Amino acid sequence: MAYKCFECGKEIDTKSIERRIICPYCGSRLIQKARPEVLKKVKAR
Ligand SMILES: [Zn+2]
Repeated sequence: MAYKCFECGKEIDTKSIERRIICPYCGSRLIQKARPEVLKKVKAR
């Protein structure tokens, strides 16, 4: 699963933050999980 930095908005590879949840680009700890674009695929019956 990919993560996204809340500060710089860059996507972070999971391997980069295996131990520490820190953005390798700006050093921010504000990282959120990037949601895959699946939500729109839900069809209403
Ligand atoms: Zn960042």
